[in-house]
Amino acid sequence: MLSIRNLTAGIDGKEILHDLTLSFEPGKTHVVLGPNGSGKSTLAAAIMGRPDIILSEASELTLDREDLRNLSADKRAKLSIFLSFQSPLPIPGVSVEELLRVALDGKKDPVTLHHELHTLAKEIGLAEEFLSRSIHDGFSGGERKKIEAIQAAVLAPSLAIFDEIDTGTDTDAVKRIAEFLQTRLSQDATKIYITHSPKLIELLHPDSVIILKDGRIAAEGGHDLATKTIEEGFGGIEVRGEK
Ligand code: ADP
Ligand code: MG
Repeated sequence: MLSIRNLTAGIDGKEILHDLTLSFEPGKTHVVLGPNGSGKSTLAAAIMGRPDIILSEASELTLDREDLRNLSADKRAKLSIFLSFQSPLPIPGVSVEELLRVALDGKKDPVTLHHELHTLAKEIGLAEEFLSRSIHDGFSGGERKKIEAIQAAVLAPSLAIFDEIDTGTDTDAVKRIAEFLQTRLSQDATKIYITHSPKLIELLHPDSVIILKDGRIAAEGGHDLATKTIEEGFGGIEVRGEK
C-alpha cells in the first residue's frame, strides 16, 4: 500500500501541496480529479521523487512500509513504481525498445522483449514503426499515450500512476488505452489515474475518487463522486476545514 501522511510539498520555496493524508491500496483503481493547478501532477511527481519537489520534515511517504523519502527516482522505479507523464518528452535517437531494455536491466532477454512489444503494439492499435522511431519524437497525442501504456505493460509495476493518460487522445484511443491497461496491468497493482475524462472514468469504474483543490483534499468518495463532480463542476466543493 502507498501511504501518504501529512504530506506538504513545495517547489522553489512555494508550497503547493498542503498536509495531504491519503492511502492507495493494492488491486484498486484510484482516480484523482481537480481543477488545473490544484497540484495533481505535483503529487504524482512527489511520489516518483522528482528532485526539485521538497517535502516538509513531517511528511511521510511509504510504499509497503518502506520509506520512499530518501530514495532517488531511479531507486523508486526499481521498487516497481511507474509514472506516465502528462507531457512525455521526446528522446531523439532512443526508441521505446532501447529505453525499455535499459529500464529492464537484463531482466528480460532482448528477443522476448522485441516480440512482446510487437504483440502489445498490435493489441493497443499502434503501428510497429513507433517501436523503432525516437520515442515521442513527432508522435501525436494518441501515439504518445499508447507508447506510455505499452511501457507500463512491459515494466509491470506494482504502483502505476498515469498523469492524464487520456490528454490529446480521441475517444477511440481512450477506450483502447483503458481496456489495454485493465487487461495488461497486474490485478494486484495499485493504479492511480489523474484524469478529467468522463469517458476514461466510466471505463475504469474506479474504487476510489479523490478531489484535489488548491493543493488540499477537497473530497473523497467512490465512482459517484467523480460523476457528480464532472456534471456539476468543482465550484460546489469546499476544501475541508475551510469555509
Ligand atoms: P495540476 O496537475 O493539478 O494542473 P500542478 O501540480 O501542475 O497542477 O501545479 C500545481 C501548482 O504548482 C500550480 O500553481 C503550478 O503553477 C505550480 N507549479 C508547478 N510546477 C512548478 C514549478 N516547477 N515551479 C513553480 N511552481 C510550479
Ligand atoms: Mg497536471
